Amino acid sequence: MPIHCKYCNSTDFRISRLRMKDLARLMIFHYPVRCWVCRERIYMSVLQMLRLRRDEKLRRDNGLNVNKIQPS
Ligand SMILES: [Zn+2]
Repeated sequence: MPIHCKYCNSTDFRISRLRMKDLARLMIFHYPVRCWVCRERIYMSVLQMLRLRRDEKLRRDNGLNVNKIQPS
């Protein structure tokens, strides 16, 4: 089930850079990501972050053809 941005309802995110204040969230396995559309920063679970990272890698490997990515 995709994560929706709580600000704009988008499902497109990229992994955000870690900051010191993220440490507390990391302790409970939340990872910061940034919404592509509204650029707000939200947290998702580490599992979802890993899936996002895998999708980003697939996107790079496939050029910009995101349609080749199969949902797991
Ligand atoms: Zn958003």
